[in-house]
Amino acid sequence: MPQQLKWFILFIIVGIVIVVLINRYMPERADTIYINCHIYTMDANNTIAEAMAIEGDKIVGIGTDEYIKRKFKSNKIINLVGKTILPGLIDAHCHLLGLGLARMTVDLFGTHSEKEVAERIAQRVAVSKPEQWIRGSGWDQNEWLTKSFPSHKLLDRIAQNNPVYLVRIDGHACWVNKRALEIAGVNRQTSDVPGGKIVRDASGEPTGVFIDAAMELIYKFVPEPNEQEMREAMRLATEECASVGLTSVQEMGVDEKQIELYKKLIDENKFPLRVYAAIDGPGELWNKMKREGKLIGYGNNKLTIRALKIYIDGALGSRGAALIEPYSDDPNNRGLTMLSEEKLQKLVDESLDYGFQVCTHAIGDRANNIILNVYESALKKHQLPSARLRVEHAQVLSPDDIPRFKQLGIIPSMQPTHCTSDMYWAETRLGSKRIRGAYAWRSLLNTGVVIPAGSDFPVESANPFFGIYAACTRQDKNGIPNNIDDMRKYFRSSTNDYSDTAAFANGWYSSEKMTREEAVRGFTTWAAYASFEENLKGSLERGKLADFVVISKDIFRCPIIEIPAIQVESTVLGGKVVLRH
Ligand SMILES: [Zn+2]
Repeated sequence: MPQQLKWFILFIIVGIVIVVLINRYMPERADTIYINCHIYTMDANNTIAEAMAIEGDKIVGIGTDEYIKRKFKSNKIINLVGKTILPGLIDAHCHLLGLGLARMTVDLFGTHSEKEVAERIAQRVAVSKPEQWIRGSGWDQNEWLTKSFPSHKLLDRIAQNNPVYLVRIDGHACWVNKRALEIAGVNRQTSDVPGGKIVRDASGEPTGVFIDAAMELIYKFVPEPNEQEMREAMRLATEECASVGLTSVQEMGVDEKQIELYKKLIDENKFPLRVYAAIDGPGELWNKMKREGKLIGYGNNKLTIRALKIYIDGALGSRGAALIEPYSDDPNNRGLTMLSEEKLQKLVDESLDYGFQVCTHAIGDRANNIILNVYESALKKHQLPSARLRVEHAQVLSPDDIPRFKQLGIIPSMQPTHCTSDMYWAETRLGSKRIRGAYAWRSLLNTGVVIPAGSDFPVESANPFFGIYAACTRQDKNGIPNNIDDMRKYFRSSTNDYSDTAAFANGWYSSEKMTREEAVRGFTTWAAYASFEENLKGSLERGKLADFVVISKDIFRCPIIEIPAIQVESTVLGGKVVLRH
């Protein structure tokens, strides 16, 4: 070997040794180091870490205090005195603009009678100009003594000169007054709309309640919010998300105006949240997206658009969910479907051709059966094992359909608080047999699927700790039902004699509960998987986004009943604190 080559090799070896030593003993720089924490990383091994180093918007190191202190140096070291940290929570199904607008309209959540609704509307009428539309949302006739749909007459008494448009809690029905009916030109001659229903009295006169597609008859006359109102709505919605620990949301149905607003707010650095958005149904925007292609990670991973949202049926509360057998409490009604199977098939095929995920709203067992069939035939044609097609809600499933999710690689995207809100009356709609396939989380998990969890806010509260609690208890916040006596006292069912006492021990059909770990995964890693973002978020690991929350209690060790009371002390998005209480 020539002398020069020997020297060269020696030089290289010494160089490598120096680099290795520097790497081993010279600390790396980090913007911020968090020490003395109790970090549930939610990685594959459920590692619990003590410290975390953040550079830019990413985690560059996570592990023990000793390791992080040795490995990193920073001008900013934050001692969290043993506080619990979770990955930033992800809501896998929600309506962000809907939340903001709901906060700007009359809040009817938690009203216990028609009269109470009327009182809140009257207050708004008093401060509104004549002819100005009064909007509200959150009423639920199931919470009233009458249990039946209201009529326009009560609203007419308090609002003669203001059209009133009040959306039901599930967004699948509206209740309007006479002035609104006049403006929309709706009367007894108006014929029903496919996929919707005009509720009428005995003489055929519209009562003022419109279900699903029929809502549009009125809604098209409600003035759209202007840009300033939309900005205000987004400010309220994103602040609310940060305050409950959400760092990412998956928005099920956006239009073009919304997307433009998101981009503007992101460019102006006024958007403290990450959004994975599904386009609201086929139409102009869908055609545009087909031309332009998907949008991934706009503005440092703040906005991704790569999914299409489709509706098959309505909701259970308003009996719009499509069932195989008639409703147990409405023998002539099997619910509504909004799209023919052929149209659905065409849309799903098209989405896969263009590389878009499909998120299909399906509540009833018939709707779920239809979409599973459509997905199955589309997947056969396209041979895409990782299309991650989603069924939104997957609320009522026939037993044969439960294993098909895993077999076909389809994701059931579910909302735990829907279960605990609906449980008081769901069985009257479905009967004691079908109810076994409703909100059937454990049956699904046992087949090997993951369940991304959401709230469907503003239908339910945006607080993910309510969802985690609902998922692992199947009880309301007072711990009801805890036994069979609670069922007899608080729940209504004409088809169940409640002889299966075990079904209600420690929760409503308690064998379908999730574990705490599964419930937290629903709002973290599983939600990230549902949006193809598991390499970016959902767990706290080196290289992933520094999205995390500091919470007031150890969620895995506190008494289960305390979970809904967990407070978010700070929310960190991409290494930046966006909320501190
Ligand atoms: Zn929804």
